[in-house]
Order: sequence, then C-alpha cells, then structure tokens
Amino acid sequence: MLLFTPGPTPVPEVVRQAMATQTLHHRTPEFEAIFKSARERLIKLFGMEECVMLASTGTGAMQACVLNLCETKALTINSGKFGERFGKIVQSTDKDLVELVYEWDTPATIDDIKLALESNLDIDAVFIQICESAGGLRHPVEEIAAYVKSVNPNIMVVADGITAVGVEPIDVTHIDALVTGSQKALMLPPGLAMIGLSKAALKKINKGKDYYFNLAIEIKKQRENTTAWTAATTLVAGLNAIFDEIEKEGGFDALFAKTAKRAEATQAALGAIGLTIYPKTPALSMSTVIDDDAEAIRKLLKTKYGVNMAGGQDHLKGKIFRINQMGLIPIHESAWVVNSVELALGEMKRRTFDGTANRVFNEVYFK
Ligand SMILES: *Cc1c(COP(=O)(O)O)cnc(C)c1O
Repeated sequence: MLLFTPGPTPVPEVVRQAMATQTLHHRTPEFEAIFKSARERLIKLFGMEECVMLASTGTGAMQACVLNLCETKALTINSGKFGERFGKIVQSTDKDLVELVYEWDTPATIDDIKLALESNLDIDAVFIQICESAGGLRHPVEEIAAYVKSVNPNIMVVADGITAVGVEPIDVTHIDALVTGSQKALMLPPGLAMIGLSKAALKKINKGKDYYFNLAIEIKKQRENTTAWTAATTLVAGLNAIFDEIEKEGGFDALFAKTAKRAEATQAALGAIGLTIYPKTPALSMSTVIDDDAEAIRKLLKTKYGVNMAGGQDHLKGKIFRINQMGLIPIHESAWVVNSVELALGEMKRRTFDGTANRVFNEVYFK
C-alpha cells in the first residue's frame, strides 16, 4: 500500500536502518556528537538563531511556544483543526485568547489581523499555521509576520510549519518561532518536535516557567549538545540519516523544487479530469480535492489501487481527500496516484478513462 497521507509520511529504508542500531546512552560523548550534528543541520534548515528538539509530537512544540512565548494574550488564526488547536492550548492556560475564525479554504487577511491587534493592545503573541493541514491551505504568513512586527516588534510571531518546513523555503525574517515535527516532510517516525527561534524569542523565553516544556532550560542544555530530559536518541540519529539522504538527492533546494513541481503537476492532472481543488490558496505540502464522491474515491483507491490518502475531518468529513506531496516521493508513485483517481472516476461512471491524469501529470512535471 502506498502511504500518501500528509503525515505520517513513509520513512526511507536507509533511515530505518540508521535507527535500527543499538540504543546509545544519551549522556555520552558518542550521542552528544550525533546530537551536535543534528542540531547544527537543523539551525541551518530553519535559518534561525537557535533551535530546540523536544521529545514530543508537533503539538508539544505548539504548546511549548504558547507557554514560553505568550504572557498576556494570544491571537490565534483558526482556518482548520490545527489553528483551532492553538486556541485550545491557549484556553488550557491562564492566558487570554482572541481567535480569528475562517472557513477551512480561506486564508487569514492582514485587515482582520489589524483590527484584532487594534482592539486588543495586550496581545503579545500571534499563532498561525504556514500550511493549515485540515484543508491544505497556505496562509500568507510572511506578509502577516511583517505586518505584526511593523505594528509592534515585541509581539511574538509563532508559525506552525509542521507541513511547511522541508516543503518550501520559508522567509523567517519576521518569525520568532518556527515549529516542525518529525513525521511530515522530514520523513521520520512521529515523536520528535523541533522549534527554530529568533533572537527576540530567546530574550522572551528567559521568563519561561513551565516544567517539561521549559525552553530556557532546554536551550541551555542543548547548547551543550545534551537535553534536559532523556533525548529521543533513535529519532535524533534518524534525523541525521534523513539529512544525509536529502543531501544525497541534491539538498533541500532540490527537494523544494521537486515538491513544488509534484504539487503543480498533481493539481493540473486533477483539474484536467474535472476535479476541484479545495483551498483558495493551496499549500505545496498536499493536494486537496473537494468532491461529493470524495469518500467513495478514497475507498476505491485504498481497496483496489493500493493508495492510502487522507480524508477530511469535522464538517469536511467525507467531502475532501488530501494527497501528500511531502518528502522524497518517487515520481512514478505520484503519477500512479492521479492515474488511480482517474480510474476510480471511470469506475464510478463519472468520465471515460483515457489516461488524461497521468499524461497531464507527466507533461507538467517534465516540461
Ligand atoms: C501534523 C500537524 C501538527 C501536529 O500534530 P501532532 O499529531 O501533534 O504531531 C500540527 N500542525 C500541523 C499543521 C500539522 O499538519
């Protein structure tokens, strides 16, 4: 079965091998060398001042940012499940919340953020997804971050890049914290969260009070190539292995270019067989189709064509399907996915199968 869900993504064989070695004790020079290498490569990938690795899923890193970077009031952008999650995390603390709610296909606007900031002068942190994975939507995060900083440079801008880091280059000029997780574009098993941090974020973090997610303590330890609590040793070793593998394939620039082309080719192929892309501003990490037959198409792909893609949640349950674009995906697999969607439409008598999806995919990808 081809795993084509936008996280978890398949783990390459060499990475699985690298994680199959004997467990190292985390307080040893051997592991510290592995940690140091992973840390340096992460800082380079984020393009930021500092980074921390946490033994948690991505949500843990989102929570760590709320706990360490917001003191008074948070502004969260809810265009789907993950934006909603930032709001729920804030509500689980003593901090106040202002939430901008949008339909799941709609990106946040600077006008709305302007209004929210003007009527809530005590907002000290803004939380937003780069890609809201619930609908595959790309928010204009860079523009929003620049605007927020122009209003007040002390407001922290926290970007959830869990389905953006490793997908596309991100301009972090106005971003204070950039969050990612292991099981999406970095192609590792779940359980390692990573946060890139700006100079301004480092200053604010000194006041952190939380116990497990105490970024002040973590940063101090991680600068010494160790961790406050037991490190996720296997996943950190896997992180070095995936960096090696991405380098072997031409580095991150090559991966970004291939991901963008795959996303473009997939979208063109789906459009050519009469399907509708759901978000108004689609992200590159996944291709999302809205269709009354979404569930039937997804089921046929799973049972007949060996493709596992994701559906929708909440009010989009049964209404959308999402095809992953993250990671080192063999191009023939992506071509097969759009081809099987066309086969499914043929079977459902929606159109006569003539290989259009595969042809358009290849024309666009190799043009
Ligand atoms: C997957 C994902 C998360 C994190 O989910 P976890 O299950 O905690 O790893 C957060 N934000 C976005 C945008 C995601 O796609």
